[in-house]
Amino acid sequence: MLHLLAKALGWICYNYLQMATSSPQYDVIIVGAGPGGSACAGFLARAGVSTLLLDRARFPRAKACGEYTSPASAAIIARLGATEAVVAAGMQLHRGMTVVAPSGQRFTIDYTEAGDTAAASYATDRASLDDALARHAATLGADFHDGVRVEDLLRDAAGHVCGVCSPQLGEVRARWVVGADGAKSTIARLLGVTRPPPLRRLGLAAHYCGIAMGDVGEMHLAGGDYCALNPLAGGIVNVSPVLDVNPANVAAAGGLTAFFEATLRRFPGVVAQMQHASRVSAVRGVGPMSSAVSRTADPGWMLLGDAAGFYDPFTGAGVHGALRGAELVAEILIPALAANDDPARTARHYRQVRRREFAAKRQADQLVQMFVQHPAAMNYIAPRLAARPAVRARLAALIGDLIDPRAVLNPRFFWQLLRP
Ligand SMILES: Cc1cc2nc3c(=O)[nH]c(=O)nc-3n(C[C@H](O)[C@H](O)[C@H](O)COP(=O)(O)OP(=O)(O)OC[C@H]3O[C@@H](n4cnc5c(N)ncnc54)[C@H](O)[C@@H]3O)c2cc1C
Repeated sequence: MLHLLAKALGWICYNYLQMATSSPQYDVIIVGAGPGGSACAGFLARAGVSTLLLDRARFPRAKACGEYTSPASAAIIARLGATEAVVAAGMQLHRGMTVVAPSGQRFTIDYTEAGDTAAASYATDRASLDDALARHAATLGADFHDGVRVEDLLRDAAGHVCGVCSPQLGEVRARWVVGADGAKSTIARLLGVTRPPPLRRLGLAAHYCGIAMGDVGEMHLAGGDYCALNPLAGGIVNVSPVLDVNPANVAAAGGLTAFFEATLRRFPGVVAQMQHASRVSAVRGVGPMSSAVSRTADPGWMLLGDAAGFYDPFTGAGVHGALRGAELVAEILIPALAANDDPARTARHYRQVRRREFAAKRQADQLVQMFVQHPAAMNYIAPRLAARPAVRARLAALIGDLIDPRAVLNPRFFWQLLRP
């Protein structure tokens, strides 16, 4: 009898342990605390969704970036209730962006011309911006752990993703895993959805002092490449060239810093601006900067931000895309979790919404790239844009994410832009 009782007790304990170790500890685990991951964690936690936010870096952490954020991003940050935190992180308002064509012709894209007089972009040192957003998510109730590298995914008996593995936390289970871990996403690689990057450009960035600039950023173009100068708070300017380059050239130039400095000399307008400049940060780089995936969601997982695909930062698509992607994930997951919806339906819904949201902007970005990469084409449109305020205003609204990109993807706009 005693023997039978012990056996029954053992069986109950075994099943209890099985249940305890396989039931989800969180509704959602987000891998990566860049702007996308942190904003998503904030939106979810505020709605009462139990959320774990993980990043392999120790925060605050630097990130190679031009640090320009389009006007529409400010509205998302406001919806997240994080404006105060971002302002405290040191936000520099920009009225617009001056583009300097390879010919030297300049035109200024002014967001106040875009029809919204309150519109302004801003630039914030990414170490401070990302730290502010991650801390904000934690104040809204997300569990934030930095210094945690996710190395593997857990799967249930049906093969669906149901958690993550890291050397620091071991196995952690959740109903959904969101990969917000950047252009070289580990999550996308583990899921087998990584595709070759659409552009093989190298992006570099460093901070300088001693460059006199007002409230307008500058974008200098030369030979198919470009270099952005973005004023940050405290008299610092972010200098970030983006170029088509074979990584072997970097080594041949004597390393990243020497290559960066040689690259800047290719942009006459940048050289003129930097006569009294001195570098105050390390040079950071990412190459290739772009990323692509074959799928953005399936039962148990979703990707957002650069992890879901990134093209090029010329139109400020990066941070805005990550923030908007975060908002979409939250808008879909919050009701789906509450209603215990079929995960296959939820994943399908996210894929469709993402396509609707980002496909037109991607086409517009590809079009802008055609002009950026062909100096003769840019030299042709630069004087026209300088002389045509209505066309410039449209472009400002596009770059600022203030209009539906389809408003410029039509023959009428092209005629207004290209006519002699
Ligand atoms: C040179 C350069 C200039 C740019 N300029 C601009 C610009 O001016 N404006 C703009 O809008 N965009 C710009 N971008 C693009 C912009 O930086 C990205 O689009 C943006 O950072 C994407 O945000 P995210 O949240 O998706 O990912 P990220 O900001 O890349 O964050 C991903 C996070 O995931 C973490 N992580 C990665 N792997 C793991 C793992 N295995 N486990 C745990 N954590 C992990 C990383 O530590 C990181 O913190 C630029 C990019 C480059 C390279």
